Amino acid sequence: MTALVLAGHGSHITPQTAGLVWTYVDQLRSWGTADEVTACFWKETPPFSQVLNTLESTEVIVVPVFTSQGYFSSTVIPAEMQLTGPVTRRGERTIHYTPTIGEHPYVQQIVRQRAEDMLLKYGLRPAETAIAVIGHGTRRDQSSQDAARQQAAFLRSLGLVSDVIVAYLDDEPDIPSIFQRTPATNIIAVPMFLAPGSHVSIDVPAALGIEPDSQHSRVNGRSIYYTDPVGTDESICQIILELARDTGLTPHATTGSSQWQHFPLAGGHPFVEAIQQNGSLEFGQLYLTPNEVKPVTAKSECVTITDPMPLRRWVREKPFRPLATSDDLPDNWRVPVENADWLPAIVETVYPGAIADWAALQAGHFQAESLAKVSERQTGMFRGVHHTPIDTIEQVVESICGRCARHATWFHQTSPKGTIPCQSPCNVWLSRVMEAVAI
Ligand code: SF4
Repeated sequence: MTALVLAGHGSHITPQTAGLVWTYVDQLRSWGTADEVTACFWKETPPFSQVLNTLESTEVIVVPVFTSQGYFSSTVIPAEMQLTGPVTRRGERTIHYTPTIGEHPYVQQIVRQRAEDMLLKYGLRPAETAIAVIGHGTRRDQSSQDAARQQAAFLRSLGLVSDVIVAYLDDEPDIPSIFQRTPATNIIAVPMFLAPGSHVSIDVPAALGIEPDSQHSRVNGRSIYYTDPVGTDESICQIILELARDTGLTPHATTGSSQWQHFPLAGGHPFVEAIQQNGSLEFGQLYLTPNEVKPVTAKSECVTITDPMPLRRWVREKPFRPLATSDDLPDNWRVPVENADWLPAIVETVYPGAIADWAALQAGHFQAESLAKVSERQTGMFRGVHHTPIDTIEQVVESICGRCARHATWFHQTSPKGTIPCQSPCNVWLSRVMEAVAI
């Protein structure tokens, strides 16, 4: 069997960052691209370090959903997933790690189209117009500038406009310097970002001095035309498919008969058996029967949801819950179940990664990681987190884990059978510890 895993950044602030990656997952599942299709994140769940536990496939393709090679694709993801290069063999499993989406040649055409659409829509004169390709950049990894530079070189070679420059949100040259670096009256700003998340909707507009959500603004006597980010282009899933095929594997493309197919499979069989044998199961804040999934505290007036995308949006975005297992699950919905085999996929949509951990605990082979071990593989702000005073660790476990549907096995050493165990501190927990230490 083959699995396709999209590895993205995620966010604690806006749902769109991981939401776009889940949209790709939904599309790829509907195409039947691989036996199992899923996503993993740095800031959300399932985390990079645990997603492989959710899969049964022996061939796994991991596609980094980033616009350029950089700190996350070359350092964080390999460290968290213990990848040794483009191909990692681990027991009977082979893991293929592809280039980032932004390195695919077709992304050039998306950037070009974004710029040409603005030229056409607003009737801009090429001689009075510049294009600013805006990348994220990071001082931790200069290679993250490469993608924006390559896009700019390509646009220059086309001669579409009088000037093409690059700028970075988190590196030099910065975004405000655009106004000193080009005399053009019109500036088309193309954000080399995937999701319309906080960088695209808040940070870049603020640095440009334009109103969020406005496509055309006047700033410093210039006209700024702000395009959509590249990741919202409908061709991105085809790019992912091509990156996957370049590994030498041939993910198939069959249309599934159910919207609940091609989800992670680990733990699914014992999970369904437990529900069928007992007639029902409480799982975190969920109440499951062979015919229905709903919150334990479901109201009598419930919205009936039948598809993965609306279900994910309902439980994740209203309001935004970056921690899928936080105890504030909305309680006004239900999913009717026509086939008990759908149950794992429905639960996976609400609690990504939880069934595999539950099943491993039931079978007696769940393994938690110590805080020290997690700290060891960190290269950024979380490195050394295990030196945090124990009082602070206990307080954050109480305040964050105490409001989570998972049981913090990594802290308590064991978890009672039937609970959803937690292998290692999540990004929300680690971030809260950093905040507590800084106070
Ligand atoms: S670290 Fe705590 S809050 Fe985070 S997933 Fe685990 S149990 Fe939940």
